[in-house]
Amino acid sequence: MPVPSARGGPAGTRVRVVLVGATGSIGVQALDVMARYPEHFELLGAVGGSRAEALLQAVAPFPGARVVLVSPSGPVPQGVLVGGDVACALAADPRADVVLIGGGGAAALMPTMAALEAGRRVAIATQEVLVMAGELVTAAARRHRAEILPVDSEHSAIWQCLRGEDPKDVARLVLTASGGPFREAPLETMRRASVEQALAHPSWRMGPKVTVDSATMMNKGLEVIEAHFLFGIPYERIAVVIHPQSALHSAVEFCDGTMVAQLGVPDMRAPIALALNGGRRLPGVVPPLDLAKVGRLDFQEVDAERFPALQTAREAGIRGGAAPAVLNAANEVAVAAFLAGAIDFGEISELVAEVTSSHSGPPPSDLTGVLAADAFGRDRAQELVAARSGRRLAAGGQRA
Ligand code: MG
Repeated sequence: MPVPSARGGPAGTRVRVVLVGATGSIGVQALDVMARYPEHFELLGAVGGSRAEALLQAVAPFPGARVVLVSPSGPVPQGVLVGGDVACALAADPRADVVLIGGGGAAALMPTMAALEAGRRVAIATQEVLVMAGELVTAAARRHRAEILPVDSEHSAIWQCLRGEDPKDVARLVLTASGGPFREAPLETMRRASVEQALAHPSWRMGPKVTVDSATMMNKGLEVIEAHFLFGIPYERIAVVIHPQSALHSAVEFCDGTMVAQLGVPDMRAPIALALNGGRRLPGVVPPLDLAKVGRLDFQEVDAERFPALQTAREAGIRGGAAPAVLNAANEVAVAAFLAGAIDFGEISELVAEVTSSHSGPPPSDLTGVLAADAFGRDRAQELVAARSGRRLAAGGQRA
């Protein structure tokens, strides 16, 4: 695989990028990075979900890029290609140096597999890909000698800490978590927290789903599963510690007792640029961290009673097979129900645990099996949401 040049170099050596999920938060930030370093990056093509106008607006600074909508919600403007198959063909383009999977949720699974099967280097920011199908995705990468690079800030940090090290020397991965807005709230207040309170994340600006996941710490549980697949480390050697300042993005502990950590401002453009550029650093992507301004770095153990979702996710990861896909689907439904006012904040984790433990069956052998597990998780969670909000209505609760 050609190694991209960190400094651009002669014409024709730009990193050619295919972007899946161009209109989401990661996609927009990736396009921002690429537009700021036009001598380093070339956008071969971009995939969006349903909104033609948003997609065309996002790729306007990149004339010549192919534009694909998976399932258009309205009339399709000229020049826009349509369909999941076309998106997969774009992701498998042999000219692509890197395929960034930046959004799309479960819909990102197919293009990810297409890219890996074509031997492309794939930078994964979409959590669902490794959580739902980690076993299939990493097996495809091995089979086709395709490289998977992390984009999520914690996993990018671990990747950076591991570079140049012997994998045999790794003792533990240590993922940091901000602890979200309820790190110190009384447990009963947290249980009945409003949507506004749950969305008030202290350090990162993210979409509502991820922000709620960060408040329950399900986000960190999903990241533990991702770390397991990205770095091939068993679950018992992946630790989580709360670090409210979000300055230290994660760390690796080595066999000699040394710990190496990565620090930086909380800005996703840094890990996005690093992954797009194949691990080579570009000058001035984000402002440097001012340590004196940060002042202090605090760390504390995770309170398992406050954040039960973390353990639920860890157990689903250890069970393996379809369990993480079921967990992920149940969590999506539970978070949406909370955001819609149908269940309490504290019920998100309860509901996810109940759905996940109710599933059994052999590990999925293909994406169809993964999607069946996903459908089971969704349906079962919907039933539980309906039962709980029905009970609340019958009891005269104030929420509809
Ligand atoms: Mg993260």
